[in-house]
Amino acid sequence: MAMYGIPVLVLKEGTRRTIGREALRGNIAAARALAEVLRTSLGPRGLDKMLVDSFGDVTVTNDGATIVKEMEVQHPAAKLLVEVAKAQDAEVGDGTTSAVVLAGAFLAKAEELLDQNIHPSIIIEGYTKALRESLKILSDIAYKVKPTDRESLKKVVMTTISSKYIGGNVISNKLADMTIEAALTVAEPREDGTYDFRTDDVKIEKKKGGNVIDTQLIKGIVIDKEVVHPGMPRRIEDAKIALLDAALEVEKPEITAKINITSPELIKAFLDEEANLLKEMVEKIAATGANVVICQKGIDEVAQHFLAKKGIMAVRRVKRSDLEKLERASGGKIVSSVRDLKPEDLGYAKLVEERRIGNDKMVFIEGCKNPKAVTILIRGANDMVMDEIERSLKDALNVLRNVMKAPKIVPGGGAVEIELATRLREFAAKVGGKEQLAIEAFASAIEEIPLILAESSGKDPLETLMKLRQLHSEGKKYAGIDVVTGEIRENMIEHNVIEPLLVKESMVKTAAEAAITILKIDDIIAASPVKK
Ligand code: ADP
Repeated sequence: MAMYGIPVLVLKEGTRRTIGREALRGNIAAARALAEVLRTSLGPRGLDKMLVDSFGDVTVTNDGATIVKEMEVQHPAAKLLVEVAKAQDAEVGDGTTSAVVLAGAFLAKAEELLDQNIHPSIIIEGYTKALRESLKILSDIAYKVKPTDRESLKKVVMTTISSKYIGGNVISNKLADMTIEAALTVAEPREDGTYDFRTDDVKIEKKKGGNVIDTQLIKGIVIDKEVVHPGMPRRIEDAKIALLDAALEVEKPEITAKINITSPELIKAFLDEEANLLKEMVEKIAATGANVVICQKGIDEVAQHFLAKKGIMAVRRVKRSDLEKLERASGGKIVSSVRDLKPEDLGYAKLVEERRIGNDKMVFIEGCKNPKAVTILIRGANDMVMDEIERSLKDALNVLRNVMKAPKIVPGGGAVEIELATRLREFAAKVGGKEQLAIEAFASAIEEIPLILAESSGKDPLETLMKLRQLHSEGKKYAGIDVVTGEIRENMIEHNVIEPLLVKESMVKTAAEAAITILKIDDIIAASPVKK
């Protein structure tokens, strides 16, 4: 209706609007581009990425979640994939690379269907059905393990550790054993016979220097601080520990008061007064029977001197989180004022000792009242190495937690994906119609993971895929690819490449949901960027 000829402005000037297929294609392209970046990082033969942030800080990693978090992604659809990685990381803490790669594959396959003029709503419907069916199939493939069986746990942990850190077998084995020991120490049994723990119950400390092989597990808490005064003992057995979050200092007045000092005697009196107050504080602490003081704030030099004279070991400026961990570990109570400190507030540990680690000193608190306190002390030549070890240990702890919480495992090395795809294709045939095509596309997308694993092992990916499909159609549902040698194995579980069911469930779910979200968008309305 050109009757009035007055354009109606609904959107603010400068707003960019992309609609329909153009919007959808643009989104798919952006999301696929991001997934493409992660493709080469998948699996034990995956390569690392070097990320340089705007301050010039460098991160070298193979961990999907870290890569996408550090990349400064601009496109809104690609940002959605970043969310996929974060969701997977938050939910199960592993399988992030796979989830992002899979979301990219779902979208790539959807694009092929769009090319054949299949409407997005049919693809969405097909994908939704395929997702539901996938979860059923996964729980059917999975099999139960005992949640505290070290041998099964080791296999699962080795699968994740060896795909993150190629530090040789000796190191991987040591790290795996250490995380299992740590997890078994902190895990609490639940009513249904499974176990649970919080991954940050395992304290991780890093100290530069030495070799990764020197990384150690301590049954207790390690604090990255040294004993404050040279006259204090370095080792205390049967430690009774006072946990203070107040400073052992005399409070200075807020406003600088003007004191008229007219004679040297007055200065002395003034200082004596301060020293007396500090001495009183120390005496109060000593009277409770404490022989170790762990303080969140500062400790005045005069107070240090009095503590040393009483044979009390003290550490100052300890992180709040460490103090809280110590509270749980030692059975003590954090006290905010020395005046309120009572003998029953003291924590207990068999041994508190300052030890030299590399060029530094750290305080070890071992044999705590609560035996569930553990620390892993990472060593390594530089921060980048230690950070990557920390990420693998955290992944390993997450994987352990997943298996202990839901003690069901599936075969890795692409086996579970091929089986899933095989059964999804059977399901697609039953559904029929155009949705069948979408479910088949979903199945092919899942096979992207074994394809990449085959590729990274140096084998011909398609040939490997065909062989694996053949084995699975013959009922060998655990057949997969050993990425290290490139061989096809009939039973990945026997071959010790194993993953928790939870990780694979979450991988398919977060990836499919992200792809569906992107497919539902047909209109992008972007406000003009704020001018700086
Ligand atoms: P994600 O971030 O998705 O966990 P990874 O780089 O850890 O990515 O790779 C995990 C994939 O590598 C899984 O599919 C797992 O089954 C596979 N994988 C790990 N170790 C092996 C192995 N030795 N042989 C074959 N596949 C393996």
